[in-house]
Amino acid sequence: MRVLMMSAVLLAALGPASAQNYPTKPITVIVPFAAGGPSDTIARLTVAGMGKVLGQQLIIENVGGAGGTIGSARAARAEPDGYTLFIHHLGLATSATLYRKLSYDTKTAFAPIGLVSDAASTFIARPDYGPNTFQEFVAFAKANGDKVSYGHAGVGSASHLCGLLFQTAIQKQITTVPYKGTGPLMNDMLGKQVDITCDQATNTTGPIKSKQVRAYAVTSKARLTSLPELPPAGEAGLPGFEMSVWHGLYAPKGTPQPIIDKLSAALKQALKDTTVASRFADLSTSPATDAQATPEALQKKLLGEIDRWAPIIKAAGVFAD
Ligand code: ASP
Repeated sequence: MRVLMMSAVLLAALGPASAQNYPTKPITVIVPFAAGGPSDTIARLTVAGMGKVLGQQLIIENVGGAGGTIGSARAARAEPDGYTLFIHHLGLATSATLYRKLSYDTKTAFAPIGLVSDAASTFIARPDYGPNTFQEFVAFAKANGDKVSYGHAGVGSASHLCGLLFQTAIQKQITTVPYKGTGPLMNDMLGKQVDITCDQATNTTGPIKSKQVRAYAVTSKARLTSLPELPPAGEAGLPGFEMSVWHGLYAPKGTPQPIIDKLSAALKQALKDTTVASRFADLSTSPATDAQATPEALQKKLLGEIDRWAPIIKAAGVFAD
């Protein structure tokens, strides 16, 4: 009993002090997609900047599969001590509806730290794909849905969601091919093994500029300054089509607030680091502002996006399980 009381006293004393000294060892950051894709790229740039601020290494662990839900479950189960964090995108919100059985409650399993980034997606195809323009592709897909092989990063991923919106817009099913992330998917597209995808400009700006892929359209309302030749899908055959992919940084629920605050401050500073900011710009990706890189802003975004996408997904009638 005495020992128990002593350890309680010790723990109470250690709590704030350990938050003050935090971090005293490397931090693992789970990315729920394979290496080489946009989530991985954004995470690596961001944590490199945060590592400089915190004076500790942040190590990425890619846990791909099932549209990000395997990595999300791992993050939800992790020790809430500040040494396991998690970067995920819009898919965290949409998988709450796409998957009817998840081992975690998306609304409560995570302690938000802050928004990280936002990027439009782009429709890109293998370099030798037939249709010349987005309008031609839309017409082809309407007539030959089963002949289109559309790659995505698993049910619940942003590329899957974009494909879902596309099929709803053209009222036709296309053949879909799941990957563990759009990094491996891009390799197959360059190898001409898959026809088309809709992936974040973070991943596609380079291959589009070097003409390694055929680029059709962006999913933003207006043209991107970095890829001005691409028409918005909403103006090029699919009226009203719009989607952007935001990323957020989270810790498991129960992580002490002083640690969350320290991480949020480091995130803000990292996003202003000139190297990080210029790489984001090269990749057509907007870093979160100071007002967005906060726990409150991310919490609001996550809950708002769960509510926004639920009726759209239910109307499309697509579930992963
Ligand atoms: N951006 C991808 C997606 O959700 C996942 C990845 O980063 O590989 O489609």
